[in-house]
Amino acid sequence: MFNLNNLLRPHILTLTPYSSARDEYTGKVGVFLDANENPIGSTTDTGDYNRYPDPHQWAIKHRLAPIKGVRPEQIFLGNGSDEPIDLLVRATCAPGKDNLLIMPPTYGMYEVSAAVNDVDIIKVPLTPDFQVDTAAVLAAITPNTKLIWLCSPNNPSGNLLQADAIRAILEAADHSLVIVDEAYIDFANTSSWTSELDKYPNLVVLQTFSKAWGLAALRLGMCFASEELIQVLNKIKPPYNISAPTQTLALDALAHEEEKNEMVEQILIERQFLADNLRSLLSVEVIHPSDANFLLVQFEDAKGMFEHLIEQQVIVRDRSKVKLCDGCLRISVGIRAENERLLSVLQTFTNVSITPDDLPLGTGEEATKPELV
Ligand SMILES: *Cc1c(COP(=O)(O)O)cnc(C)c1O
Repeated sequence: MFNLNNLLRPHILTLTPYSSARDEYTGKVGVFLDANENPIGSTTDTGDYNRYPDPHQWAIKHRLAPIKGVRPEQIFLGNGSDEPIDLLVRATCAPGKDNLLIMPPTYGMYEVSAAVNDVDIIKVPLTPDFQVDTAAVLAAITPNTKLIWLCSPNNPSGNLLQADAIRAILEAADHSLVIVDEAYIDFANTSSWTSELDKYPNLVVLQTFSKAWGLAALRLGMCFASEELIQVLNKIKPPYNISAPTQTLALDALAHEEEKNEMVEQILIERQFLADNLRSLLSVEVIHPSDANFLLVQFEDAKGMFEHLIEQQVIVRDRSKVKLCDGCLRISVGIRAENERLLSVLQTFTNVSITPDDLPLGTGEEATKPELV
């Protein structure tokens, strides 16, 4: 049986949180002399920012809740997804005692957050087709495994993880929090795990405004979980973690959900365009199927290709040294002109890694390309 109190570090359970001025008086009207703010105004050309923002961002949560099909009390907003990632580690994992489990290749911040907090990491690699090795995960968890990180669609592979595997872990690992990072969910043809929150008290879902919503610069991440867990995150977060301009812009964005959906449609068309055109390039060996806004592509000579692209000022992510991603570059889907530029630069790459010494001796034949996989 899942019991959140058994999962939390004891001092978090008993912690008395900072109580801000805006926690102690929540009325909107009055003479506000309680927060040592500047009563006159701000030194900015536009906008007044002299008052502290709502520490709980209720306006955003009330607008976001119906969009996501959750209750406002099931939402935590952070300074990027980075903030809930770190808070989850800090709330549950005691250094030198507890551990968390990740499935490489996956998003780097889970490991960094564990390292920052001096927390042990158990790594159970995904299968070669980037799916969860459920049996290996369940065999690897210990009584001290507090967090199990799943990323679906996964970064850097781009694919959704099988729902059956996620469900099996949610059901078996009932003394751990199971976090499903859905940063790319808008690009996938599937529903969110948020619909399962009331069924699984150990489920945490992360989403972000950084990708589909086009607001990476805002730094606004969403965490959906049981009201009980959200209250814990609220207790340990910096009091005013989401600035007033961010709150204003997020409300503005949420009023334009249709535009987000249109951009997603356009990006999906471009993803298809890129995949179709990459397929005809001789240097391309594998285009991994993607449910996200990027493609993981295996090249014959990834390092050479990466450098060739950089020389032409086309910047992609070199993942060729990452587990299960041998020879792969991760390519974000751009707008049409960018994708065409990428394709034309890819086309001009001649494989300089095949030197005359590598050629078969005495045949007089040109070096031929290896068979495509
Ligand atoms: C981009 C990304 C995020 C978003 O991080 P923010 O801090 O919200 O910008 C989260 N998880 C994964 C897997 C990502 O790729």
